Amino acid sequence: MDAFSPELTEVFAHIDTHRQSYLDRLVAYVRQPSVSAQGVGMAEAATLLLTEMERLGMHPRIIETGGWPMLLGSRCEVPGAPTVLLYGHYDVQPPEPLDAWLTPPFEPSIRGNRLYARGVADNKGQHFAQLLAIEALLATQAALPCNVLMLIEGEEELGSPHILDIVHRHRDDLQADLVVIADGPVHASERSWIVFGARGIVSFELHARGASTDLHSGAWGNIAPNPLWTLVHLLNTMKSPGGEITIDGIYDAVRPLSAAERATLSDLPVDPAAIKARVGLTRFDAPADRPLGERVVAWPSLTINGMTGGYSGPGAKTVLPSTARVKCDMRLVPDQTVAGVRELIAAHVQQHAPEVELVWLGGMEPSRTPLDSPFTPPLQQAFIDAEGQAPLLMPTLGGSLPNYVFTRDLGIPTFIVPYANADQNNHAPNENLLIDRFFLGIKTGAALLTRLGALPRSART
Ligand SMILES: [Zn+2]
Repeated sequence: MDAFSPELTEVFAHIDTHRQSYLDRLVAYVRQPSVSAQGVGMAEAATLLLTEMERLGMHPRIIETGGWPMLLGSRCEVPGAPTVLLYGHYDVQPPEPLDAWLTPPFEPSIRGNRLYARGVADNKGQHFAQLLAIEALLATQAALPCNVLMLIEGEEELGSPHILDIVHRHRDDLQADLVVIADGPVHASERSWIVFGARGIVSFELHARGASTDLHSGAWGNIAPNPLWTLVHLLNTMKSPGGEITIDGIYDAVRPLSAAERATLSDLPVDPAAIKARVGLTRFDAPADRPLGERVVAWPSLTINGMTGGYSGPGAKTVLPSTARVKCDMRLVPDQTVAGVRELIAAHVQQHAPEVELVWLGGMEPSRTPLDSPFTPPLQQAFIDAEGQAPLLMPTLGGSLPNYVFTRDLGIPTFIVPYANADQNNHAPNENLLIDRFFLGIKTGAALLTRLGALPRSART
């Protein structure tokens, strides 16, 4: 199939003539609250989605997780064609603060060319676009061009606490050649992009203790050890002013970027001056000569999130604190692991400040699908079909997503193909989806199933 596909012309025309009814159904879906953190509307939203999947002959099942249920549907009737697993989530972030919304979060409102509602971009509008893509294909063709599994969970906004367990328990039901996740925003330049992975994370706290009570700094300074100084000295051994993390062995598992990954990074339209201006920076962190894209994609980062102890209110208080705490996170890159990094941090603290208590918070593994995956060209072509322009390629997001359950635990290459505008305000008041982006998402979704179906078997290994 070349760039001019008669099937796609017909599907795209069908999508164009059904704009109003597709939009009305998205409005109905986002009108239904589904706030996992507050337990609001979850069963109703799952039922609504179940009905939509049933209409498409996907025979959806409800998978109990111990928390909010997941939905798993499938339509696999093209022997020999690839199987794609489409992943999304029907839960949404809490809508608060309510008074910052121009219109109520669960009363969808169209202003200009945007639809405003909680969850419209993150993630309901995006997996709903995938569903409508399937609907449009079925309306215009005898069968889907490839096999489709659809897994929609209800706990993504809680950090997906059960997905690893479910993926293991349903390993046989989730056999696929690739995973496609339509979530997140397009690139900041508003160009579409395909994202090949996400950094992992290890979060932790360091607790230091001194005397059993706060002390007078004049009477006890130079006599009682100060837990805040203890933490400052320890932190000073963990990262250099030159920007290198100085925990022994921390870079040993870091996989160097491939030449292709380096090249795609330098293709990204990045304007350092605009980035600094946007957040009020006068300089970037050390090391000064490291390209911006590589900082996010190729290197782990160690961040002090906050530090507490003693007194930091108005005026002077000559106190020598009895306790101090610092909260940190490290973002991980392939092939670092949560367990390996925790071991290195623990050994470092043990060596430099054995009296400091190390408390582990959350952890998530990194993931990265190779750029030269056989599925990259059909996904790129799908964006060209829908938008007339090739997408940017991003080897790894700076943030953390549970893609590793697919790449590591199922061994399936995983691609993030965002359909939402960069200024979607997800997790914030006035979340919105550009209506044209919604329809581009439906078209891209239809094109990617079509292009995957046309991929010769010999090209898939
Ligand atoms: Zn979210």
